[in-house]
Amino acid sequence: MKIAVLPGDGIGQEVTQEAVRVLEALDLPGLSLEWADVGATAYRAHGHPLPPATLELARGADAILFGAVGDFDCDHLERHLRPEQAILGLRSELTLFANLRPATLFDGLEGMSALRPEIARQIDLVIVRELNGDVYFGDKAIETLPDGERRGWDMMSYTESEVRRIAHVAFRAARGRKERLCSVDKANVLETSQLWRDVVIEVAKEYPDVTLDHMYVDNAAMQLVKNPGQFDVVVTGNLFGDILSDQASMCVGSIGLLASAALGERQTEYGTFGLYEPIHGSAPDIAGQDKANPMATILSAAMLLRHSLGLVDQADCIEAAVSGALADGVLGLDLGGEAGTREIGDAVISRL
Ligand code: ATP
Ligand code: MG
Repeated sequence: MKIAVLPGDGIGQEVTQEAVRVLEALDLPGLSLEWADVGATAYRAHGHPLPPATLELARGADAILFGAVGDFDCDHLERHLRPEQAILGLRSELTLFANLRPATLFDGLEGMSALRPEIARQIDLVIVRELNGDVYFGDKAIETLPDGERRGWDMMSYTESEVRRIAHVAFRAARGRKERLCSVDKANVLETSQLWRDVVIEVAKEYPDVTLDHMYVDNAAMQLVKNPGQFDVVVTGNLFGDILSDQASMCVGSIGLLASAALGERQTEYGTFGLYEPIHGSAPDIAGQDKANPMATILSAAMLLRHSLGLVDQADCIEAAVSGALADGVLGLDLGGEAGTREIGDAVISRL
């Protein structure tokens, strides 16, 4: 079992180190970790944010543990040399089209949610966001019309096969949970959404055990704060998923707690090949000061064990240790506490 460890920039370095210490503390037989530069760190060392050697290492591993990329003073660089291109490049080169973002409220963190505590306590959902299509990758332009007025436009498109493959990921995720799937679209207005809905209904025939609902995205945004307990797995497109998952993050507390997995179709010997990262960025403002909360990255490592290496018990063990540390009041600065990066890592390790 090989994990490519790509810490990247800023707090990515520190939080990844703690996640690696947690993995090492589990003493998993046959596990090897191989490190490579990515982002601004790679640009400085090798002249490119995603050097060929890093991409090759990632391709050859069973899973990737990714920290964060981005740094001050990169805006002057040509677009293809900017740190963010590294993560976009990995997602597209490795066809990682399904972004799984679980949102669960940890015990004791009711006060950190943007919702009322009794509502926040109901949240236990996974957003499955499509990552390789939608307006993000369609043709787009700002053009000047004959009368001199400017017009901007973005092409939103999905093919049947793009929808089908993300739908399968979502139905399988629902099977592993409460067997409920809510597909979010805007089918009353958008043709892409009409196709999305048609394909999801077709795929549903293969999963008769899963209850499928459809919801318009505007209603979904409202329901997410009104009655989040109704959701189990939510599947949606790239743009709607981007917005809804940020909304979900504020329902459960801090950006320093949320993990994610980017998965494709490729199977390894042990599970599904994937890239795992915290949803936060490189936070250069607090980098190198032992201030970053590593829990999101530690929880990403747990997702890695669960989905890519088939080590479900060990993943549960990490999640229970994080939950235990939070319940005991080990809170990072992002949660109004005083625990440093290393201290939080130690607290999780001691509870494994
Ligand atoms: P990027 O361009 O790198 O994605 P961003 O502008 O999206 O950056 P983040 O890097 O996610 O922003 O950070 C936003 C703020 O949240 C940071 O300035 C930092 O104070 C805080 N923050 C982010 N991650 C953490 C963390 N793990 N622990 C504590 N604070 C954090
Ligand atoms: Mg960011």
